[in-house]
Amino acid sequence: MDFSIPADLQDLSSRIGEFVRQEIVPLESDPRWGSHGPSEEFRLELVGLARARGLLSPHVRREFGGLGLGHFGRAIAFEAAGYSMLGPIALNCAAPDEGNMHLMAEVADARQQDRWLRPLANGSCRSCFAMTEPMGAGSDPGLLETTAEQVPGGFRISGRKWLITGAEDAGFIIVMAKQAGGEKDGAATMFLADMDQPEIILERQLDTMDSSFTGGHWVMRFDNLFVPDQDVLGAVGEGFRYAQVRLAPARLTHCMRWLGSAVRAQDIARDYATRRTAFGKPLVEHEGIGFMLADNDMDIYSARLAIWHTAWVLDQGGRGNMESSRAKVICSEAVWRVADRCVQILGGLGLTRDTVVERIFRDIRAFRIYDGPSEVHRWSMARRIAGGKH
Ligand SMILES: Cc1cc2nc3c(=O)[nH]c(=O)nc-3n(C[C@H](O)[C@H](O)[C@H](O)COP(=O)(O)OP(=O)(O)OC[C@H]3O[C@@H](n4cnc5c(N)ncnc54)[C@H](O)[C@@H]3O)c2cc1C
Repeated sequence: MDFSIPADLQDLSSRIGEFVRQEIVPLESDPRWGSHGPSEEFRLELVGLARARGLLSPHVRREFGGLGLGHFGRAIAFEAAGYSMLGPIALNCAAPDEGNMHLMAEVADARQQDRWLRPLANGSCRSCFAMTEPMGAGSDPGLLETTAEQVPGGFRISGRKWLITGAEDAGFIIVMAKQAGGEKDGAATMFLADMDQPEIILERQLDTMDSSFTGGHWVMRFDNLFVPDQDVLGAVGEGFRYAQVRLAPARLTHCMRWLGSAVRAQDIARDYATRRTAFGKPLVEHEGIGFMLADNDMDIYSARLAIWHTAWVLDQGGRGNMESSRAKVICSEAVWRVADRCVQILGGLGLTRDTVVERIFRDIRAFRIYDGPSEVHRWSMARRIAGGKH
């Protein structure tokens, strides 16, 4: 077993790390990073900085202007980018765009790739992905309520979605709906649509704990939106299968980015614990603090190993469903513990916005819910284990 990182990836990781520390971290106090994420103007500025360094879209195939990294390469690059929550936005590898790019590279036809994937990959536009509904699809996507009625030349989509990240200012959307009537009644399909259509209505921006996704999170409605046949993403009726094509790698890339943020929080906590004294010695020499730093190290280490192994499985052509569920639970819970301990180590400072740890703590909480809550992954793993399929 060889755990060494190839020289070209090591070099890329150093270049991303340097870029994030030198150019992105100083911008974390920019007022354009508000409670609903960075503004679109700020995002474009960040993307411009990464483009100038040749670091844009590491996960995207070279023919679309990316760096063409596989899953393991992404693990290295995205962790380095995640050192600042603005890093993945600058590199154009943040959610939901990164998952959408992956899905479109796999499933979209050449015309769709040219029209939507190309501008997304070069960072000039953003996208969103709409599956979750207020009382319909959620943990159980089978509860999908949004309908796609087949009409001459295409489909008419109606329904309400919520928690849709980045809907504001997105150029286009991938929406999941179930067919109403016809041969494939009840089958789920994904559709591509430009956002600037009157039948797509942004109803309300949600106030959430997290604040690192451009455009925030939205409640939105489709009011009889017409989507021509040519804008069906992939094949009719394959929506649930494509959701897996998107979600298994996408949940892993969340792990990679959040791992970078956990490393950052640990660095800040370690720095404080070595400088600050209490009761005659530096905090780090008090066992209670030293043990927390050691526990953080073990959480970071085990999260990284779970990511690397799952990335390796995906690079071998495996579907990685069990591995990515396992990695998602391991990582989302590990990075949460790390962030929580770092707040504790920093004492009162941890509660203030004088360090980014407070923001990491708030943001990282949501990761135990999106891309499958921990309980849903445990439940699906338990079914595989019971069936001997692990
Ligand atoms: C910050 C954020 C961003 C998001 N962005 C998007 C987006 O861009 N697009 C999109 O479509 N969706 C998005 N989502 C939605 C996200 O995918 C859902 O929140 C998630 O799938 C859970 O669905 P739900 O919220 O409806 O929870 P529910 O389905 O109501 O579940 C509630 C709780 O029930 C428990 N539960 C459910 N099933 C089981 C089970 N089998 N066993 C045990 N316990 C169970 C879990 O604890 C779960 O947390 C986002 C969510 C958040 C928080």
